Amino acid sequence: MVVKIGSALIADASAGRVKTAWLASMAADIAALRADGVEVITVSSGAIALARRLLGFRGRLRLEEQQAAAAVGQIRLAQAWSEALSAHGLVAAQLLLTLGDTEDRRRYLNARETLATLLAAGAVPVINENDSVATSEIRFGDNDRLAARVAAMLGADRLVLLSDIDGLYTADPRRDEAAEHIAVVERITPAIEAMAGDAGSLSARGGMRTKLEAAKIATRAGVAMAIARGTGLHPLRALADGARASWFLAEPEGAQARKRWIAGVLAPLGMIAVDAGAAAALRAGRSLLPAGVVTVTGEFSRGDPVLVRGVDGKDIAKGLSAYGSEDARRIAGHRSSEIATLLGWRGRDELVHRDDLVLLDMGETGRKRSG
Ligand code: GLU
Repeated sequence: MVVKIGSALIADASAGRVKTAWLASMAADIAALRADGVEVITVSSGAIALARRLLGFRGRLRLEEQQAAAAVGQIRLAQAWSEALSAHGLVAAQLLLTLGDTEDRRRYLNARETLATLLAAGAVPVINENDSVATSEIRFGDNDRLAARVAAMLGADRLVLLSDIDGLYTADPRRDEAAEHIAVVERITPAIEAMAGDAGSLSARGGMRTKLEAAKIATRAGVAMAIARGTGLHPLRALADGARASWFLAEPEGAQARKRWIAGVLAPLGMIAVDAGAAAALRAGRSLLPAGVVTVTGEFSRGDPVLVRGVDGKDIAKGLSAYGSEDARRIAGHRSSEIATLLGWRGRDELVHRDDLVLLDMGETGRKRSG
């Protein structure tokens, strides 16, 4: 998993200090993931923010001021990561990359080998752009794209962009009350791109534009990407626990990527217990009909992930519910033909359609949970 951390999360620019409590919680999340066998790479911004005050730079920095600030701040940033990770017995490794390191084939292979070796040795790579020496032609200019290139280069399972917003909205939620959150993006269409607005609409650097550019790089390389809020403590744990985020599904694998995402990434918000007949139908690859449902537990909305469990207590599948929990309870145990009478409207015949359903521990769907 590659995690990109924005400057504002890790650095208090006006005080010129690292947000140590936040970083400690982040290091704890990384340690928990590593203990689960997940290899984690961080792409951490913050070098410029950490040094601008110290060097007396104010306002919008010129390029050479940014490069000078990065030279000073990177030492502090790396030191902070090293300390935070060592509290969990983890070793931090610093890599400073430029665009060329992910484009030029020879350097690309070098960078990839180094990262693979570090991961195998149990270290946590902490990557930033080599801002101090990069000229405009060889700069990424933003760490969203750098993180996406790193994720693509390593064939990561997922990329998480931690930011000050919990995902992509149909419009800027700070200006437009009607803006709706987008939970899943299956394809980056022109309509999706239009939602990112102008480069300046959500803080010029690291705005939605560059996040969508990152999403294109990542998803085309088969990496699923999330935009999630990172401002609270333990942001990765929160994401695993089902915090709101926007997920961009990996492109080339289509339906399979979607299923893997349902199986591996989403935390279920409810549980649907089914009878033996429904359990057998599910295992045979069919959809879950309301008739086979015994109980519905939890509060969830239409489209939310749910766990399907047999009466024997065995987890059978994970899927996206076509009905909210309240409606699901009403139609449980009834034939699909009764749905319209029970609810007063006619929804899907299936409570969980097989396209939105992943069997656990079996065949096609029994693929290992991704990273
Ligand atoms: N590399 C820059 C820094 O460390 C940040 C670039 C970005 O956040 O996109 O300050």
